[in-house]
Formats: sequence, structure tokens, C-alpha cells
Amino acid sequence: MESKGTGKIISEIRNLKEAKNAIILAHYYQTGDIQDIADFVGDSLALSQKAASNDADIILFAGVKFMAETAKILAPGKKVLLPDMNAGCSLSDSCKPVDFKKFIMENPGRTVVTYVNTSAEIKALSDIICTSSNAVQIVESLPPEEKIIFAPDRNLGNFVLNKTGRDILVWNGTCHVHEEFSLEAILKLKEEYPDARVIVHPECELPVRMIADFIGSTSSLLQFTRNDKGNCYIVGTEPGIIHQMKKDNPGKMYIPAPPRDSTCGCSECNFMKLITLEKILNCLREEKPEIYLDSTVMLKAKKPIERMMRISEELGL
Ligand code: SF4
Repeated sequence: MESKGTGKIISEIRNLKEAKNAIILAHYYQTGDIQDIADFVGDSLALSQKAASNDADIILFAGVKFMAETAKILAPGKKVLLPDMNAGCSLSDSCKPVDFKKFIMENPGRTVVTYVNTSAEIKALSDIICTSSNAVQIVESLPPEEKIIFAPDRNLGNFVLNKTGRDILVWNGTCHVHEEFSLEAILKLKEEYPDARVIVHPECELPVRMIADFIGSTSSLLQFTRNDKGNCYIVGTEPGIIHQMKKDNPGKMYIPAPPRDSTCGCSECNFMKLITLEKILNCLREEKPEIYLDSTVMLKAKKPIERMMRISEELGL
């Protein structure tokens, strides 16, 4: 239940949004209270599409830095705010521009396909961006003879490689949330709940993907639980998504897949969880922290993002 203090914060956020013509875009991995006050909740692809097409003057991004940067690149004329600049991403951090530039130079002639979970500088070095919702289709849209570099997530990269059979050189990066799921703990849960379906994100490691009943992006997992006839799911992605699953189908049971280290909250993304209602309120009040990017980097990064969006639109994604 909402406390009196929380209720006051929420109504102040609503008033400020209206007064300043601001919208809140929230990722599925945000806490439920933030998802509920957002104007739009989605995965990276849907959030990019929304950032590129809205009438607001201010976009407040309830998510992590690479997402807010993508919004700024797609809507350079708007003020883009991120309530906590420390909301980074371990996956994005695993691919530094200086190292990636070297990798590209050492492997010439390959088309550089980069996952959206990267900094603006990495996007500027890429030929085309993808998200987990469209990675397979983006790679399949390239001519079959094209050799590819895929970065930064090695699990998603190998998933795409297996699905498409293409010549893909995969960068060795991982997300601290998705690589931490425990195969043993999931199998033990399956014994306890034999009817449960294991649904996981492609960023999970191969042994976890191998026992899954369904593998998909956050929005596909949501879609799956919406349409599936089952009643119980072991969910192998950041547990923030369960908020939307419960809203859609409150009668079903959703069990977060446990991490290897049961003493830590590794299945929650500590970067995503840096964003709070209080920080959103302060950020809207003060209109900072704001995302600033180098104009040359923005221009270079925009091309591969727009190429992805064009293909996604053509494919109806
Ligand atoms: S869940 Fe993983 S990939 Fe997503 S923002 Fe957190 S660290 Fe990055």
C-alpha cells in the first residue's frame, strides 16, 4: 500500500510533469512504483521508439545511462534527464571504446552489430545497433556473405550465432544480473514446481538457456506469460518485469530465478535500482542531472540506431 509520503511524492511528480510538459519513460527493470507513474514502460527497443516520437519538452528516463543517452541521440532537441548519473550498466562497462576500436581494427571487413546496451561512443563505432527484441532479425537482414562483429554481450551474441548460423565474432562481455542465475537452483525449483515453465532472457548463460521452455527479450517474456496457457513461471531476467506480468495476469505465479550467490540480491540490477521516486521528483524539480553528449559522437551514433529502427519498422517489430 502507498504511504502518505509516497502519495505526496507521486502527486508532486504528476504536477511537475504536467507543468513542464515532461514525460517519464521507464524500463521494465524499474521498481513497480516507478513503472506505475511512468507515461510509458517498455524494453530498450520500445523506449527508443517512444523517445524518437513524442511531443514532450523534457524526457525523464527511469532507467540506466545508455538508455538516456539513446533518447538524447534520437531526440537531440529535448532535455533528457537521468535521476542518478551513477545508474550505469556492467555490460556497457565491459566494452570500452579504446579496446573496441582496437578489436575492430584487428578484425577488418566485418560489419559491426552492437547491442543497445553500450555507450554513445561505442554506438558511434558501429554499423548497426540491435536490442534483444530484434537481434536475430537485424543480423538476418544483413547480406549472408557479410562477416559480423557482435558486441558486447557474449551470451546474446552466441544465441544469435546459433540461431542464424552466421559468421559472427563475439565480444566477451556479460551482464552481472543475467550471468548470475544458478542452473542448480532453477532445477531444484522445477522439482518443487513441476508445472512451472522456465522463461529466460538471451543474456543468460548457455546451460540456463538450454533448460528454458522459452527464451526472449523482456517484452517477449511478458508477451509469453500473457498468451501462454500455463500458470507458473520461473523468470530468468531482472525481477522488475514481474510487476507487469502480475498486472497482466494476477492469477498466475511468477518465481524469480535465483542467483548463484543466495546471500546477495544479484538478480536485481543494482544500477536500475538506483532510481527512486524521490530522485525522480528532485530531478524534475531541478531539471538535472541532464544528459550532454558530444555533437560529433551523437551524429555518428544516430546513424546505426536509425538503421535499426528502420529495419524494425519494416519487419513490424
Ligand atoms: S540488467 Fe544488466 S544489462 Fe541491464 S542495465 Fe543492469 S547491468 Fe546492464
